[in-house]
Amino acid sequence: MTDILPSSPAASVTSTTRRYRFATEVVTVDSSDDPHNAASVPIYQTATFKQKGATATGEYDYSRSGNPTRTHVENHLAKIMSAERALVVTSGMGALDVITRLVKTGEEIIAGDDLYGGTNRLLSFLAKSQNVKTHHIDTTKSDSILPYLSDKTRLVLLESPTNPLIKISDIPTISKYVHDRCPNALVVVDNTMMSPYLQRPLELGADISYHSGTKYLSGHHDLMAGVIGAKKASVGDELYYVINATGCGLSPFDSWLLLRGVKTLAVRMDKQQASCIRIADYLEAQGFKVHFPGLRSHPQYDLHASMASGPGAVLSFETGDTGISERIVEGTKLWSISVSFGCVNSLISMPCRMSHASIPAHIRAERSLPEDLIRLCVGIEDADDLLEDLEQALNIAGALPTPSK
Ligand SMILES: *Cc1c(COP(=O)(O)O)cnc(C)c1O
Repeated sequence: MTDILPSSPAASVTSTTRRYRFATEVVTVDSSDDPHNAASVPIYQTATFKQKGATATGEYDYSRSGNPTRTHVENHLAKIMSAERALVVTSGMGALDVITRLVKTGEEIIAGDDLYGGTNRLLSFLAKSQNVKTHHIDTTKSDSILPYLSDKTRLVLLESPTNPLIKISDIPTISKYVHDRCPNALVVVDNTMMSPYLQRPLELGADISYHSGTKYLSGHHDLMAGVIGAKKASVGDELYYVINATGCGLSPFDSWLLLRGVKTLAVRMDKQQASCIRIADYLEAQGFKVHFPGLRSHPQYDLHASMASGPGAVLSFETGDTGISERIVEGTKLWSISVSFGCVNSLISMPCRMSHASIPAHIRAERSLPEDLIRLCVGIEDADDLLEDLEQALNIAGALPTPSK
């Protein structure tokens, strides 16, 4: 056997080319190869595919290696991510696991210092188990990466905006630094917070962009998925090799749910973002310190606007008192206390107690993650209802100077 990369269902060229505006493309799924002209791509709920003869293999043989429902969602996502190849796996962390398998023992990763909690945990695990060191830098200052770039650098891992502090990384500048100095390194962007509707890192210079498909892409918190897009087909093929070898490809049913969910991405995000902008303005007017790239007061407002077409629908704010924050979170009725974001329903959380609790307290302090921080993830409910519910919770918590009403 000379061919190390097994042949796999190839992404069709026409379906990865965007011709219309995003909101049109995202709802237009190419199912022209369906033998019965099905309007919705069917779920191929099968583990195996029969062969025509002992040596005559078809496009598919075994669903770990490839499944038509998975191929359809992958081709569709490649198109909306501007990727040469997209791949779907069982979770966002699974996506990062697949990507980090490109790193060999002794090579290094450079990553931000305000990362998703699960990402921190996986990077610490790699440091212990594989001797793969991660340098954490402040990615809001592009130059801070320069001292760490070396021939050992294999991955540069960025989030923008970061979560929960909503800090912005300059993806084009950092990508240029990395590509000029380290031809072997790949710039990887976790684009979960923005979704491809608002920001497409592969168009900004990144080599790989990945998402937790559990969030905006599927949009209903009814499945877990991870989505990886590669700018170069050769990188996509290497990632596919890992997925087939480790068996983490997304199941046919979850692939179908993801394809169904993503069709409404633009309309959901438009509504969620518009409400989030109103809520950010309201909180800022009450005197809270609000972290949201849609506010003029955000220190990197212009940088964000240069990369993304909108500020998104996640914000965080500080109350100055952990007890007050707890009472606000517990005082809301419409906002569910929940980790995660990107759902049609609105969520409220205290990152230090919830999603980011796996980061040790002294490191949270080092990275100036305020313990009283509240994160809001705005859903598609009526914005007046969301504001009224938030206001009554702020009043109950004693967070407003004089109770209004
Ligand atoms: C949720 C999330 C992940 C992990 O995705 P899962 O689907 O939960 O495994 C990674 N990065 C960011 C920014 C996330 O919000």
